[in-house]
Amino acid sequence: MDTLRGWVYIVRDIGKLKFVLVRIFPENRVVQTVFKEGETEKSSMKLVESLYPETLLELKGEWRSSEKAPGGREFVVKEASMISPSKPLPIDISGKTPVEYANRIKYRWLDVRRPEVSAVLRLKSIILKAARDYLLSEGFVETTYPVIISTASEGGAELFPVVYFDKEAFLAQSGQLYKQALVPSLGKVFSISASFRAEKSRTRKHLTEFWQIDVEAGFVTERDLMDIEFGIYRSVTEELNKYPELFEILGREPPEIPRTYEDITYDEALEILRGDGVDIAWGDDFGAPEERKLCSHFDTPFFIRRFPLEQSPFYAKVVREDPKYSYKMDFMAPGENGMELSSGGLREENPEMLRKRMKELGLKPESFEWYVEMFEYGFPPHGGFGIGIERLTTVMLGLEKVTDATAFPRTPDILYP
Ligand code: AMP
Ligand code: MG
Repeated sequence: MDTLRGWVYIVRDIGKLKFVLVRIFPENRVVQTVFKEGETEKSSMKLVESLYPETLLELKGEWRSSEKAPGGREFVVKEASMISPSKPLPIDISGKTPVEYANRIKYRWLDVRRPEVSAVLRLKSIILKAARDYLLSEGFVETTYPVIISTASEGGAELFPVVYFDKEAFLAQSGQLYKQALVPSLGKVFSISASFRAEKSRTRKHLTEFWQIDVEAGFVTERDLMDIEFGIYRSVTEELNKYPELFEILGREPPEIPRTYEDITYDEALEILRGDGVDIAWGDDFGAPEERKLCSHFDTPFFIRRFPLEQSPFYAKVVREDPKYSYKMDFMAPGENGMELSSGGLREENPEMLRKRMKELGLKPESFEWYVEMFEYGFPPHGGFGIGIERLTTVMLGLEKVTDATAFPRTPDILYP
């Protein structure tokens, strides 16, 4: 006899025959179990008559092939016992009745049990493993960056303050300054870590807490950075293609494995947009509609390089031959649902230039003194990028929005549970 443990998902009671779809532990995969007069103990037949969904059962019995059952087999139950009862559910999680998004979030601790949500989280784990394995195989060292910081890394606004004894502190907007500081120690470094932005953006791609694959390396060119980012992207797609059964739960195909990437400059991106009739001036940021238009021109991941300096963070390296531009670089997912996946580029190593840029952007160089000072001590040329994990997951799995790509999202409206 085999033993299964799982949650009652959907019950179809036709008297002497009771079909109970059960989500089995630990895979959370739906299997069909059958309770049958004559084969199942009488007390177990009785037990199953009065169960609410989500009751956790232990089932003893055996597998038999069955054409109609999911996966081509069903589990004929001899004995059933209850491990943990369930109250009536506040929301349906079987997909039978539509549930409003706000209610799904309110009961997210229950909603995460849905096979679709479980599949997303499992695929996200595969994405993270693929990215991590790729970076480790390329000689990157994994570390952690601080989450409590004393100064803004991405400019002054959008910071969540933290009560830190008698000092002012914030939640990190990124690991930017720290990953740069680790280049002379580790050479090639990365961390998978949390970033926080106190932005009241209510869009399909913004969270107030998001996670980044935050990478930095010494002696890299723009081409090296693009190759590394594309390497992560391709490894992730290759790995995901090994799990068609999880994509089946989502009703989607695994992502296409790209053969190559393209790269354009900011100025070329403007030309593409203008060709589409978009009225956009040099120096303007790409808003959501422009980003969508741009992405739908590509069917392979692409980079946008050489941004206007005025649109670049203070740590972006200034192009010396044409200081209107920086070496900032964005990595974009292609197609209708494409979006910016990462920002990065080469970094400014000249302390005087850094002080000047900080002042231009209204930042106080005094509060970054350690950061500026480190470049006076034999600092290698370097660059890096940060890939938003929820965005990467959204794009790879064809989800609607980043809140679907995380178990417990944080947005201006969602702080509970
Ligand atoms: P940034 O340097 O601000 O462009 O951030 C690097 C990457 O992190 C972006 O390309 C996104 O993938 C991700 N990211 C930035 N801000 C957010 C946000 N508010 N919500 C989700 N992901 C974000
Ligand atoms: Mg960006």
